[in-house]
Amino acid sequence: MFKKDIKLSYFVLIISFINIALYHLPFYEFVCNNIDVKSLDGTLLFVSLTTILIILNAFVFYLGVFLLRFVGKWILAVFFCMNAVAIYFINTYGVMIDKTMIGNIFNTNFEESSSFFSATLVLYFVLLGVVPSILIFKIKVIPVKIKNFLIHISLTLIFVLSLAFANSANWLWIDKHSKTLGALVMPWSYVVNTSRFFHHQSLENKQQILLPNATIKDDVKSVVVLVIGESARSENFSLNGYDKDTNPLLSKIDNVYSYKAESCATYTTAGVKCILEHKNKGKLFEILPNYLFRNDVEVIWRTTNWGEPTVTIENYQRKSDLKKFCNGDACDYDEVLLSGLSEQILTSQKDKILVVLHASTSHGPTYYKKYPKEFEKFNPVCESVELAKCTQEELINAYDNTIVYTDYILAKLIADLKQLSEYNSSMIYISDHGESLGENNLYLHGIPASIAPKEQLDIPFIVWMSDGSRGIKNEQLLSQHNVFHSVLDFLRIESPIYDENMSVFKN
Ligand SMILES: [Zn+2]
Repeated sequence: MFKKDIKLSYFVLIISFINIALYHLPFYEFVCNNIDVKSLDGTLLFVSLTTILIILNAFVFYLGVFLLRFVGKWILAVFFCMNAVAIYFINTYGVMIDKTMIGNIFNTNFEESSSFFSATLVLYFVLLGVVPSILIFKIKVIPVKIKNFLIHISLTLIFVLSLAFANSANWLWIDKHSKTLGALVMPWSYVVNTSRFFHHQSLENKQQILLPNATIKDDVKSVVVLVIGESARSENFSLNGYDKDTNPLLSKIDNVYSYKAESCATYTTAGVKCILEHKNKGKLFEILPNYLFRNDVEVIWRTTNWGEPTVTIENYQRKSDLKKFCNGDACDYDEVLLSGLSEQILTSQKDKILVVLHASTSHGPTYYKKYPKEFEKFNPVCESVELAKCTQEELINAYDNTIVYTDYILAKLIADLKQLSEYNSSMIYISDHGESLGENNLYLHGIPASIAPKEQLDIPFIVWMSDGSRGIKNEQLLSQHNVFHSVLDFLRIESPIYDENMSVFKN
């Protein structure tokens, strides 16, 4: 095969065709589900999309290989390999490769990403990535003269533009679905969205906008522990009416209130930002821990997770820091967040204390690894990282066990706080976003909020407060921004930006 050297224009057409054939099944599935393929218009749109994809990709590949020569070929091979991985995640988890998803990838640590590793992923990588890449190097290309290069480029541009204008009737359709289409076109979904992500990141990493100073109104010793959950969705909490008993402990504790709430986003960095900010304005305001720390409140941040805006406080403790003070198997799980916490609170000289525990318990896809064995209340459980390979029951069982474990941690935390009798204390539990567990063939989270299913947006918002400390309001639906104002209120901190309507507490 390919004994003879071939022209560059043929080479890029072949590569472009392979690119369409191997990596665009999800793209065509989406297109066919959203047009009437049997109608003439539908057929024309289908053919035009395919032609434009092949020609435009060939055009870019042509430029790449002409200008970069051998390096251009290497880039094509890297594209093929990355396409293969992208297709695996689209097929396995129903993810969309958009700016948000790219952000999730760059914010994921190794421990988490290794939990996605599977034999099927390797198979995708080899068969769809490495094997076609070998072909790229096998084919020998005849160098193009600059005159022919210019002619080819101009003719292609004219062709593409005319095709685009001939299809003007379909522009609205393409515009309407641009989000999904853009996420499914390889390799541009991740190439374009990676640069969009970094552009966005550079805007967001600006300094946090300082809030007006706050004053502490009294010297009553008070502590709030804010627990930020990971991927916990409200419908799987029996406190919210779930028919399996996932809250055996919390349901027996007095002064525990559960609210309906919606997250502002479906991914960690944005969800956590919303929980810590007083309002959502698309800017980065000073976040709750930084604000309180600057205004003389003791602030402790303990985390087994990641993805929060920059925290500028003294007591920032990662899992590795906490494990030093922890003994036993529980230290490998989120219970480590509680180790030595009471002592740490008691040693503080301050009257007002905020503790943030950023947990990771319900993080997929390996739910079954996120809780100690004794919390496997529901079984059998899904032990594959390819969630679609498990039955719905196994998947939900594994997930529900993470909620049972969360229930235990929160109950233990409340028991610890009850021991601190000289403090008014409160526990607020909220999740960064929800989770899909196979509904509509979607898994995990990260679908853009505007089109996300409710499973990814409905989050638990659970409040407990010590006897006689405060009353609590009856609210229909809360947002993540209620946290900021509730914490200020409970600690009796006065601030111009405090909004009484946003606090869950009353006197
Ligand atoms: Zn998250």
